[in-house]
Parts: sequence; C-alpha cells; structure tokens
Amino acid sequence: MEKRIGIYPGTFDPITNGHLDIINRGQKLFDLLYIVVPNNIQKNTLFTVDERINLLKEVLKDYDNIIITKTDLLTVDFAKEVGAFAMLRGLRMVSDFEYELQLSAINKAMNEEIETVFIMSSHELSFLSSSSVKEIAKFGGDTSKFVPEVVAKALEEKLKN
Ligand code: ADP
Repeated sequence: MEKRIGIYPGTFDPITNGHLDIINRGQKLFDLLYIVVPNNIQKNTLFTVDERINLLKEVLKDYDNIIITKTDLLTVDFAKEVGAFAMLRGLRMVSDFEYELQLSAINKAMNEEIETVFIMSSHELSFLSSSSVKEIAKFGGDTSKFVPEVVAKALEEKLKN
C-alpha cells in the first residue's frame, strides 16, 4: 500500500509543548511526517533556522516516522516534492481560525490536491505560543512548564547574550 505522507510546517521559534502535543497526536495519522521549517521567511526569529532544526531533532529523536528539515520551497511545493497528501496544523482558539482558514484556502488554490488537517490543541495548552514563551524567558521567568528541557536551556543560553 502507498505510504501516507504528511507535513507539519511551522516556524517553531522555538518548539513548545503545544507543538509537541500536535506532533504526538498528528503523527498517528501518517506513516511518515515531515516537520518542515521555511528557510528564508521575513519573520524576526530569536533562533536561527539551524538552531530551531537542531532543537526539533533533539526533542523528537525517539520518533522513527518523523523527518525534520528546512526548505526554500513554498509549503505546497515542498508537500508535492515529498509526496505528501496533507499538511497538519494546530488550532488553539478562535483567534487562530481566521488566519488558518485564509492559509488553507490559499494553499488549496495553489494545489488543490493537498488537504489541510487541523488538530485542536489540548485545552491546557491552548494558551501557549512560542512568542509568550520568549516573553517569559526575556524577563528571566521559568519556561520549563511550557517547553521541553533542552528548549528551556537554549532559551536561557540565548537570552544571556
Ligand atoms: P507559524 O509561524 O506557521 O504560525 P508556528 O510555529 O507558530 O508557525 O506554528 C505552527 C503550527 O502550530 C500552527 O498551526 C499553530 O497554530 C500551531 N500551534 C502553535 N502553538 C500551538 C499550541 N500551543 N497548541 C496547538 N497548536 C499550536
């Protein structure tokens, strides 16, 4: 049977327990899940793309059905290149809906063969975002409740400098 391949695109600046929840639940839907980080986006990120990839690799090292990579391609083109039929996104609150709806519509317009699959975040993680975690870290707060331990350490290191 053909392999069911999916992608989970995101900035992951840095990966949080909210992303992990979506990955953990979402990977069960696919034989192979690519976690893909766009290379040259206009966002002002705290971590470089390679630092973000390394953190993802460290945190997800026990999954043998997950591949982590960066790309210069548009998300839908990346999906096509790796043979994915769907992309995974997480939905937290109503405020995510509008943005995600627009994104999925535009992706559909570019390639109608690729579906967007949404997973609702677990409610205890629905308040969590990479930006809030960075904000906490900037003020010297403890982020270890919200991110894996390696990420908490990386935040501390990064913001020391
Ligand atoms: P992007 O810049 O593409 O929004 P993010 O890394 O912020 O990238 O998020 C990638 C995906 O993960 C998005 O679908 C986002 O809604 C989802 N996500 C982020 N944080 C959470 C969370 N706490 N719970 C569930 N989904 C989340």
